[in-house]
Amino acid sequence: MEVRRGIAVAPGVAIGPALVLGSEDFRIPQRFIRADAVEIELTRFQAALKAAVAEITGHEELAVARLGKQYGDIFAAHRQLVQDPKLVKDIEELIRQKCYSPEFASSRVLRKYAKTLQNLGDRYFAERANDLFDLEKRLLRHLLGERREELTQLTAPVLVLAHNLTPSETANLDTQFVLGFATEVGGKSSHTAILAGALELPAVVGVGSFLSDVSGGESIIIDGNQGVVIIDPDDETLRSYRDAAQKMRTAAVKLSSLGPLRSETRDGVAIHIYGNIEFPNEVEHCVERGAEGIGLYRTEFLYLESDTEPTEEIQYDAYIRVIKAFPTGPVVIRTLDLGAEKFPHSMQEVIEATPNPALGLRSLRLTLHNLPMFKTQLRAILRAATLGDVRIMFPLVSSLLELRQAKMILGDVIEDLDDQKVPFNSKVKLGMMVEVPSAALMADEFAREVDFFSIGTNDLIQYTLAVDRANPAVANLYSSADPSILRLVEGVVTAAEKHNLPVSVCGQMSSDPIYIPLLVGMGLRELSVTPQSILEVKQAVRNLTVAQSQEILARAKSLDVARDVENYLRGEMKKLSADLVL
Ligand code: PEP
Ligand code: MG
Repeated sequence: MEVRRGIAVAPGVAIGPALVLGSEDFRIPQRFIRADAVEIELTRFQAALKAAVAEITGHEELAVARLGKQYGDIFAAHRQLVQDPKLVKDIEELIRQKCYSPEFASSRVLRKYAKTLQNLGDRYFAERANDLFDLEKRLLRHLLGERREELTQLTAPVLVLAHNLTPSETANLDTQFVLGFATEVGGKSSHTAILAGALELPAVVGVGSFLSDVSGGESIIIDGNQGVVIIDPDDETLRSYRDAAQKMRTAAVKLSSLGPLRSETRDGVAIHIYGNIEFPNEVEHCVERGAEGIGLYRTEFLYLESDTEPTEEIQYDAYIRVIKAFPTGPVVIRTLDLGAEKFPHSMQEVIEATPNPALGLRSLRLTLHNLPMFKTQLRAILRAATLGDVRIMFPLVSSLLELRQAKMILGDVIEDLDDQKVPFNSKVKLGMMVEVPSAALMADEFAREVDFFSIGTNDLIQYTLAVDRANPAVANLYSSADPSILRLVEGVVTAAEKHNLPVSVCGQMSSDPIYIPLLVGMGLRELSVTPQSILEVKQAVRNLTVAQSQEILARAKSLDVARDVENYLRGEMKKLSADLVL
C-alpha cells in the first residue's frame, strides 16, 4: 500500500480500479492471464517486442539519413534498452510465474526501472527514465493494438489518474464510469478543480510525481476530503474508508434537511445564497439545496465541450434550461471567460504559444478581439432574458475603457435585435466581476457604471499575490486569508455600499464555510457558491449573528499573516459549530 498526499479539491471518497492516462490516453484492460495461456501470451509478447524493435530501427535509419548519426544514436539506445536481456527476462518471468498479462508485466517492469532511475536524483538518469516511459508506450501500443481503451469508451467504473487534466478534458469525463480523479499537477482554485466540484467527483490534485508507481487496474482510494491517494490499499484501510464513506452519506442526508430552510443569521439577517454553475444540469442540485438563483454561470464550458463553436441557438437553449429552473430568481450569465487554461481544442495552438496566458488575451479581452463570437453570445443572452431575471456579467474587467468598450458592443447588439424585430429584453442588468486588482482598487469609479459587482477571489488572489492558481509548487502561497485580499475585498464592499450597488462574492472563498463570518462581517449579503457547498454555507450562516461576524472580522484584520488568519478562522468555526443549530 502506498499513500500519497496532494491538494483536496472536491470532497468525497472514491474507491475503484485505476485508469492511468498516459499522453496517449489508454489503459491496460487485463492484468492476469489463465495459466494454460502462458505460452501463447509469451509468443504475443515476443511478437510485440519484435515489432517495437523494427519500428525503432525504422526511426533510427530515418534520423541518421535526415539529421546525422548522433540523432540516430538516440533511437539506437532505445533499441538496445528494449532488447536488454535482463529487462526482457524480468517481463517474461512475471508472465510465466505470476500469470501477469504481457501488458501489465511490461508496464510493471519498465516503470520499476524508470523509478529506480528517477530516484537516483540525477538529471541525466531522470531523463533516461522518460526513455523508459516512451518504450512502455511503444510496447503497449503493439500489444494492445485494436484493444486500446480510450477514455471516451469506458464501460466499467474507474478512477482516472493523470499527470494533468485540462479543463476541457475534465468537462468531458464520462461521470457514469469515472468515479473520481487525481493528478500530479494542479492547484486548489484551478478550473480543473472547480470542474471536479461541478461534476461532484472526489478529486485530489498536485500529488506530485506518482504515476510511475501505477500501471492501471490497481485498486485505488481517492480521498477528496483529506487530499490523499492510496495505491493498493490493504484490507483494513479499505474497510475503514468504506465505513467513512457510509458516515459521509449519512451526514449529507442530515445536511440536506437544511435545503428548504431560510438562509439567515441567528439574528434574522438574510444572506442570499446563489449557485455557481458550469453546466446547465447543475441547476437541479442548486434548486434541491435551496439556492435562490444562479450567481455565476460560467458559459465558456459550452465551448470546451465541443470541437465547434456553439451556435446562437445552442447557447440560447442552454440558457433557457437554467432560467426555467429559476423562473423568478436571478440568473447571472457571465460572458465567455476563455483563455489562460480554459480553451477549446481549436484555440490550443494560439493560446499555448503565448508565454504568459493568464496575463494575455483571455476572457473579456479575447471576446473584444473576436466580436462575432461576443455578439452571438450577447444575442443569445438578451433573447433568453425575456423568460426570467437574467443578468449579464463581464469577466476580468481591468480598466474603465475596456468596460465601456464592452458596453458599446452590448448597445450595438441591442440595436441589431431591435432592428430585426427579434424579441429580447432590453432592460437586462449589467454587472462585472471584480477579479483584477486594478478593478478592486478602482471599485468606486466602476460602481458608477454597472448595476452590480461580483468579486472573483480566485483570480483576485492569483493576480494580487502573483501566485498561479493552478501551480502546486506555489499552492502554499495561495490563500483567501491573506491580509491583502481581505483589504481588497472589504474595499470593494465598501465602495459598493457607498453607491448602493449589490455586491456578491463568487470566487471559491465564499464556498469555504470558514470565511462566511468574515464576509458577513464585511457587509456581504449575497454569496454565490459551488452547488456542493450550498448547504454547508447555509449552515454556517444560520449559526452566526451579525455582531459575532463583525467581531471575528475585527480580530482577523488585526493579524498580519495569512496562516494566522486561517488558523484563527478555523478555531472560530469550530467554536461556532460546537453549539450547532440547524
Ligand atoms: C474567480 O476568478 O474568482 C471566478 C469566479 O472566476 P473563474 O474561477 O471562472 O476564473
Ligand atoms: Mg476568474
